[in-house]
Amino acid sequence: MISVRGLTKRFGDTTVLDGIDLDIADGERVVVIGPSGTGKSTLLRCLNFLDRPDAGTIAVGDVSVDAARASKRDILALRRATSFVFQNYALFANKTAKENIMEALVTVQGRPRDEAERRALDVLAETGLAEKADSYPAALSGGQQQRVGIGRAMAIGAELMLFDEPTSALDPEWVGEVLDLMRRVAEQRQTMLIVTHEMQFAREIADRVVFMDGGRIVEEGSPQQVLDAPRDERLKRFLRRVA
Ligand code: ADP
Ligand code: MG
Repeated sequence: MISVRGLTKRFGDTTVLDGIDLDIADGERVVVIGPSGTGKSTLLRCLNFLDRPDAGTIAVGDVSVDAARASKRDILALRRATSFVFQNYALFANKTAKENIMEALVTVQGRPRDEAERRALDVLAETGLAEKADSYPAALSGGQQQRVGIGRAMAIGAELMLFDEPTSALDPEWVGEVLDLMRRVAEQRQTMLIVTHEMQFAREIADRVVFMDGGRIVEEGSPQQVLDAPRDERLKRFLRRVA
């Protein structure tokens, strides 16, 4: 169970996250939607301290962190409990697909290299990229690169997987294979928090949809409630635009 209370983030004078409260149950899939510039990426980044929140608490499993006085150890524990899939893949260009997946297993988790390598090869097989193990990112399509990005997050075995618009940077031809892989991850009862503009996918995969606007959660509920029977005017306007 993930529990976030009063999560607040300012950049200068701008409050980007304005007291976010969010609970996610084990195995739950939550999709976050909302206009651009509304704090969705910042929310995900604050959850594993890629951005440091100014206030609030974050609890993931046994790890509970008060943002205002988080120690290095707290932050490391939180990072171990979460994994991140980036819009632009964020692979190391000078490492192969296999080495990209091994990296966090060795450096963050301290696993022996041979064990990390076996795990990376297993995950590459699961993502359908076994034959690309020794390819560098530049030799892979956008879809394949993002599948490596997802494989890297899967390999860590984190309690919570965070996806920040994982298909937004892709040519349309590669979107389907990435969404398929995310469906497979979801079938494993992995807890997932996903920012996406793919409304059809949201409808299909989400246990709950959260609509953010202006750094706040404005409305949340089942996909049917939020997408088919929106109540808030801002949500109605947003849905008209993305439809
Ligand atoms: P979204 O993902 O919903 O599009 P973001 O979380 O990326 O929104 O950004 C929310 C707001 O915070 C935007 O106004 C953006 O300009 C601002 N912002 C994000 N990151 C930074 C940063 N590192 N420094 C200053 N402002 C930032
Ligand atoms: Mg964003």
